[in-house]
Amino acid sequence: MRLFNTLTRTLEPLEPLEPGHVRLYTCGPTVYDFAHIGNFRTYVWEDLLRRTLKFLGFRVTQVMNITDIEDKIIAKAMAQQATIGEVTEPFIRAFFEDLDTLRIERAESYPRATEHIAEMLTIADDLKAKGLTYESEGSLYFRIDAFPTYGRLSNLEKRELKVGARVDNDEYEKDDARDFVLWKGHREGEPSWDSPFGEGRPGWHLECSAMSMKYLGPSFDLHTGGVDNIFPHHENEIAQSEGATGKPFVKYWMHAAHLMVDGEKMSKSKGNFYTLRDLVAKGHDPRALRYLLLNTHYRTPLNFTFDALARAAGELQRFDALFARFAETRAAVGRDAAFDAKAEAMELEIREALADDLNVSGAQGALFRLVREANAALDRGELPSDSLASLQERLACIDGVYGVIAPGEKALLDPEVDALIEQRVQARKAKNFKESDRIRDLLASQGIVLEDTPQGVRWRRAVAGREGG
Ligand SMILES: [Zn+2]
Repeated sequence: MRLFNTLTRTLEPLEPLEPGHVRLYTCGPTVYDFAHIGNFRTYVWEDLLRRTLKFLGFRVTQVMNITDIEDKIIAKAMAQQATIGEVTEPFIRAFFEDLDTLRIERAESYPRATEHIAEMLTIADDLKAKGLTYESEGSLYFRIDAFPTYGRLSNLEKRELKVGARVDNDEYEKDDARDFVLWKGHREGEPSWDSPFGEGRPGWHLECSAMSMKYLGPSFDLHTGGVDNIFPHHENEIAQSEGATGKPFVKYWMHAAHLMVDGEKMSKSKGNFYTLRDLVAKGHDPRALRYLLLNTHYRTPLNFTFDALARAAGELQRFDALFARFAETRAAVGRDAAFDAKAEAMELEIREALADDLNVSGAQGALFRLVREANAALDRGELPSDSLASLQERLACIDGVYGVIAPGEKALLDPEVDALIEQRVQARKAKNFKESDRIRDLLASQGIVLEDTPQGVRWRRAVAGREGG
C-alpha cells in the first residue's frame, strides 16, 4: 500500500513498525453537539482506510478518542448550568448511533479524555523535567522554541513562531504559533483535577498524546484527522509526545480535505449546515450518504449537494438491481472460466486502486465494469451456478471495504416472523434440522430472539447494539 504522508508531502509505501500490523489513531469527536456531515466525511474516510487495510491483509488496531473535556464543552455546560457529563453523555450515545447508521466499523477502543487525566499529567511532568515547559498564572505551557522541529508537520516557517507569546485556547489560527497550554489553571465554575502544577484541567492537545501513546505505544504507524487538525492540534501532539519520550511519535500522518456544501463552507449562519440526523429526517438514505462521502478522493475537497446525494442513491440502485437478479436467476450448473478470469482481474484492479493512496475513482471504474459484465452475462443466460456463486463472494468481499454495495437486509414484518417460526416448528417435527437451523439463523440475523415457553415459542426483537441485533 502507498499513501500520502503529510509529514514528508510524498507518497510512501506503508511499512508498519510491526510487519503486518497497522496501529492507527484517529482523532475523535468533541462531544458537545451532534457530529455534522463534514465530520462524517473524515470518519467515513477513516473507515474506508481501516477496511482497505484489512482487505489488503493487514491487522489493524485503531484507537479513536472521545474528547469529553474541552473549551466548547465547558462553555456549553456553564451556559446550561449542567455538569460536563450531562452535556457529553447524550452526544456520546448519539455518536455511536450515527456510526452504526453510516455502517462505520467500530475501532478497537474509544478512550475518554476524562478517564486519562493521570496519563496526561505524566507527560506534562516529563516535559517539565526536560525543560520544555514553564508555568505562568497557574497554567503550564509548552515552550515551542525549546523544541527545534516544531512546525515540521504544518510547514510553519520559524519566523512565524511568536516566541514567548502564549495561547490558552484549544483551537487557534495557523498564523498564531505560540507557546500552547498543557494544563490550564482552575477557573471559577470549570471542572478541575489536582495536579503537581496546581488544580486545573488538561489542554485538548495533551489529551490525544496521552490516549494515543497509552493504547498504541510511544511510536506507532498512522495518525489521521481532518486538514483542520494539522495545525495546531497535530503539530502540538508531536511536540508533546516526542518532547516527553524522545522517540519518533508517528510514522505516517494522513489528512482529509474539507467538505463544502453547494460550493461554500458549511455554517449554521448560512443555513447550509447538516448533521447526519438532519439528512435522515429529510428522508435521505444514509447508505447513499456513505457512498457519496466515500467516492471523492480524501485529499480533494468534497462538494456536497442534494443532486450529488441523489446521484449516489441512483448508483446504488445499479448494485441493488444486480443483487435482485442474482436472487431470481436459475443458473445452469457449472462454471465459465473466462468470466471468472475477467471478474478476478477486475477485483485485482479494485484492490490495486485502493492500495494506491485510496484511489476510489479507479476502484469505482473497475467495480462498474464488473457490474456491466455480470449483467451482460445474465442477459445472455451465460452465468453458470459456480461462477455466479464466486461472483457473489467476490462482491461480498469488495463490500467489506465499501459497506454499501450489498443491499441491506429488509426488516421482516411481524407476520413474516410468525410464519417463519411456524415453518421452523414444522421443520423440527419433520426432523429437518438443516431447515430449522437455517430459519433460526435467518431470524437471528434480523435480531429476533426466540424464547421457548410452556405455551410454545415466543419472540421479541433484540435491543440494537446490546444483543447483536
Ligand atoms: Zn486529536
